[in-house]
Amino acid sequence: MSAFDDLMAFERETQALARVAGRLSWDQETVMPRGAAGQRAEEAGAMEAVLHARRTDPRVGAWLDAAEAKDEVAVAQLRLIRRSYARAIKVPADLATALARLTSKSQGVWAEARSAEDVSAFLPTLQEVVTLKRREAEALSDGGDLYDALIDDFEPQMKALELSVMFDEMRPGLVALREAALAQPALASLSGPFDEAAQLRLSRDLAQKFGYDFDRGRIDKAVHPFSSGSGDDVRITMRTATDDPFNCIYSTIHEVGHACYEQGIDPAHHLTPIGQGVSMGVHESQSRIYENQIGRSRAFCGYLYGLMRDAFGDFGVTDEETFYRVVNRLERGYIRTEADEVQYNLHIMLRFDLERALMADALQVSDLEAAWNDRFEADFGYAVDRPSNGLLQDVHWSVGLFGYFPTYSLGNVYAGCLFEALQEAVPDLEAQLARGDLSAATGWLRKNLQVHGGLYEPREVITRACGTAPTAAPLMRYLDQKFRALLA
Ligand code: ZN
Repeated sequence: MSAFDDLMAFERETQALARVAGRLSWDQETVMPRGAAGQRAEEAGAMEAVLHARRTDPRVGAWLDAAEAKDEVAVAQLRLIRRSYARAIKVPADLATALARLTSKSQGVWAEARSAEDVSAFLPTLQEVVTLKRREAEALSDGGDLYDALIDDFEPQMKALELSVMFDEMRPGLVALREAALAQPALASLSGPFDEAAQLRLSRDLAQKFGYDFDRGRIDKAVHPFSSGSGDDVRITMRTATDDPFNCIYSTIHEVGHACYEQGIDPAHHLTPIGQGVSMGVHESQSRIYENQIGRSRAFCGYLYGLMRDAFGDFGVTDEETFYRVVNRLERGYIRTEADEVQYNLHIMLRFDLERALMADALQVSDLEAAWNDRFEADFGYAVDRPSNGLLQDVHWSVGLFGYFPTYSLGNVYAGCLFEALQEAVPDLEAQLARGDLSAATGWLRKNLQVHGGLYEPREVITRACGTAPTAAPLMRYLDQKFRALLA
């Protein structure tokens, strides 16, 4: 056995254990008995300790020194193992433990503060999280930018400066579209209730049409929609609301995009470092293009309207065109996860600028709420009415996820690039979507992007699929065209 073979055998077992740990948290969000929470925390902690020991095992360092890559796949495997090993050994063990302990506690503090609408109950804990994340970033950054070091966990090779240039270019156009849209008269709303069983049937049917493989996946109900797993076991969750069928339908299509990415990876890469999505931004590009560019297109909305009439009968919308407008309407709102394609990115830019300033020590936790509220009013045109609609709405900061938010908008940017390339590759895409035939669209994404997993770096895989390097221009063209036409 060569050093490379030894290393890959060890990694395969680490990957398998990581999948088991992932399935424990899937279980916790779906079917775990309520009384098992304490025991589960201990089980998850034990798994995490095993994984941490494997990731920092000195043998990995020795194998990496001796291993030789004989092809492109081996080069990529070594690159990812080297990155993960370097990260794991840079963070002192006591800091890693302190962060894990703090972030498991702080999520509960955040949830309580949010339901009590009490920012001051959360800020001391957030201050501790920020302090530890800054220490972690210092350990990771080798003297470079702290926030860049944190972004690297989610989007390798991306830098805050590049993101901020991109976002600054996008922001005025988005604000202008938002202003124009909110000046329009309101549309009729859907008249429910929408039978829950019918929503679940319709969503499963759509998942299948979008290419989700039920032989290697399953859908369950959970409080939050998410996808988890990779390779031959990729699961998603959904939720329903009897007055709002779009919540179930579009979050399912979104999660199916994530799941199809994982299911679409070359089986030869399963249970290896490159056998999963390459970055959060590229992952999000798949969920967004399924959900938005395809799922909210005029052509597909026409088809979906028919399915919804079959499932729910008359629901207060009388024709396809009105249905398309209802699906894509822009409304006032405070909540990121409920935002439309235009305003969503404004939510992200707000968080990006604030968390970047926090990490640079240019903004203090004590001033965070005021900074949030000022920025929200500037970009959205009205004031935050209560903390759960403002600073306390997202879980991310409480669990130490700094550097994660920008990958959502980066996913939109990548989706914009991929959609232009897809339209060129499939000239009759609209006609296909109008009859609910998604095979060419999802097949193109699988063949040109999903199959590679982590073989190429994020920017490279998008560039290979599109033929040009990613920029925000295709997304902005798409949003401008779509929403100006809707406003006309
Ligand atoms: Zn997503």
